[in-house]
Amino acid sequence: MKVLVINSGSSSIKYQLLDPDSGDVVASGVVQRIGEPVADGTPTIEHSSGGKTYEHDGVVLDHAAGLQLVFDLFAESGHDLAEEGLRAVGHRVVHGGEVFFEPTLITDAVVRTISDLSSLAPLHNPANVVGIESARKLLPEVPQVAVFDTAFFHHMPAAAKTYAIDTKIAAANGVRRYGFHGTSHEYVSGQVADFLERDRTDLNQIVLHLGNGASASAIRGGRAVDTTMGLTPLEGLVMGTRSGDLDPGIIFHLIRTADMNVDDVDALLNRQSGIKGLSGVNDFRELGRLIETGDAAATLAFEVYIHRLRRYIGAYLVELGRVDAITFTAGVGENDAKVRAAALAGLERYGIAVDEARNTAKSRTARYISPEGAEVAVLVVPTNEELAIARASARLVG
Ligand code: AMP
Repeated sequence: MKVLVINSGSSSIKYQLLDPDSGDVVASGVVQRIGEPVADGTPTIEHSSGGKTYEHDGVVLDHAAGLQLVFDLFAESGHDLAEEGLRAVGHRVVHGGEVFFEPTLITDAVVRTISDLSSLAPLHNPANVVGIESARKLLPEVPQVAVFDTAFFHHMPAAAKTYAIDTKIAAANGVRRYGFHGTSHEYVSGQVADFLERDRTDLNQIVLHLGNGASASAIRGGRAVDTTMGLTPLEGLVMGTRSGDLDPGIIFHLIRTADMNVDDVDALLNRQSGIKGLSGVNDFRELGRLIETGDAAATLAFEVYIHRLRRYIGAYLVELGRVDAITFTAGVGENDAKVRAAALAGLERYGIAVDEARNTAKSRTARYISPEGAEVAVLVVPTNEELAIARASARLVG
């Protein structure tokens, strides 16, 4: 029995139909430019199944229309969802606030609460709700499950969750550190335990999820004790287009002196900063090419990125005291050997080293990049949030 996983964004829906036991993907695809009135000829839906690609070029009016078109493509490619015997639909939901910290069976009340949490994730939760409502309408008989990006960090110690601001104001407004990418950090740390053939409760780990968004976590015995993202995904590491940590005074300064309003600064820090703000590109493949041409801005962007990453690795080494494994995952972490080497350079005295041949070997599976017999296992482990969501959904519905 298969699970359909849906990740609904503000103008896109990514989806996968997969077998939660084997991890085999039956079909996957993406709907893009939802609600944009004019299609420009490039496909709005790309659906892959059985090695073939199916496309839809027309306008997609809204999420419900997009999902209906996806369901038609499923039928066209020989996997009619009504006949597939779906076990569950698993939805990625970004913010669970204080309320949700486990995979949750979706009811009307759950949808309302996810919607009520929108002030904490104004771009994400409303889009997640639209995806959930569309899927519930189209598949009313199939149990739907919400899996929250914040859940894995719910049990972080109070010291790691608390911002040092007025307690009453913080409590009244839900201001605390929640963390994101939790599904990935949890899945990858579990894969690490399997790979090392150790019980996850015996391991202290640092997981570096370096994708377009990026976050690090410190995990003690299978439980997250710290992470770099906070109330929103803006805090922490330098990312593709997000600044990560900065002096909050910069926000007031820009509003007072640069003729920018709150929305302008929000857009600046979330979409025009990070690697893109510093170098003009946000993809690490392009950044690497620019660095090779001697581009000074690209070189500085790389250095700022690595500087921030090392600062957190150092913090988590101290926080955990003993570290058994440091793991790189997501688009940059899985593919960029230069980032991995620079992140951990010169740490031999802490038992941490990266073997050059292992680091630059091409592989898509979990592997060591530390030298044989090193004290700390340094690993590259591919993340798979869809599989984690499918498994959590299947477990919940039994
Ligand atoms: P994700 O958010 O995990 O999908 O990661 C996307 C990012 O991974 C892209 O924006 C690139 O910066 C990076 N990436 C993907 N493939 C490569 C590669 N082969 N080398 C370096 N970076 C890559």
